[in-house]
Amino acid sequence: MIRIALAKGRVSDSVLEILKGKGIEFGDEKDDRKLILHEPEGKYELILVKPQDTPTYVEQGVAECGIVGRDIVMEQDSDVYQLFSLEAAKCKLCLAGKPGGRLERYSNIKIATKYTSSAEAFLEQKGVGFELIKLNGSVELAPILGMSDAIIDIVETGNTLRANGLEIWEDICEIQCVFIANKAALKTRHKELSELISCLYEGKV
Ligand code: AMP
Repeated sequence: MIRIALAKGRVSDSVLEILKGKGIEFGDEKDDRKLILHEPEGKYELILVKPQDTPTYVEQGVAECGIVGRDIVMEQDSDVYQLFSLEAAKCKLCLAGKPGGRLERYSNIKIATKYTSSAEAFLEQKGVGFELIKLNGSVELAPILGMSDAIIDIVETGNTLRANGLEIWEDICEIQCVFIANKAALKTRHKELSELISCLYEGKV
């Protein structure tokens, strides 16, 4: 049996659909309080975990593999293999702020974000001076209230930005789900993992 750690929320909603399309169904997936889902053939077990914790379950070997947004993997320095992306929970990481703004206008910019590592890498590469303010959610408030000049956050439809009078200044990178695997399990459980990987990988980049 292969245990898959699945990031709960947008990722799990969309990955359960993908798995269903591949003929892998979990009978008890309707009960959203259940944290462990079983597949009738007994080949796979899904554990539904907080997105930020997904790489930890895989790194610790409690789950042989996992599926999580690339934003989470980029922020953490987990010792897992990132094998491929899945067409699920697609979005992008963006620099955003009040309409008409641009990064080039600042020699030192104050940015509010949940994604401090990715923000740091982006701003260093841009060669601009910066100060990061770490927030855990509702980051759109920061530029509105004058606490920051801009934000770095995930954008899917852009509705949240629009509803708060903000706009994208620059796209930083695309974000998809990634399939991650425990390094030891990829050797010791190679046959079973390969079966799952080839089932999910089909035609993916
Ligand atoms: P939207 O209004 O569709 O652009 O969605 C933006 C909001 O939803 C932001 O607050 C994001 O943090 C969150 N969000 C959208 N897509 C994702 C995703 N795939 N993973 C995590 N958060 C997301």
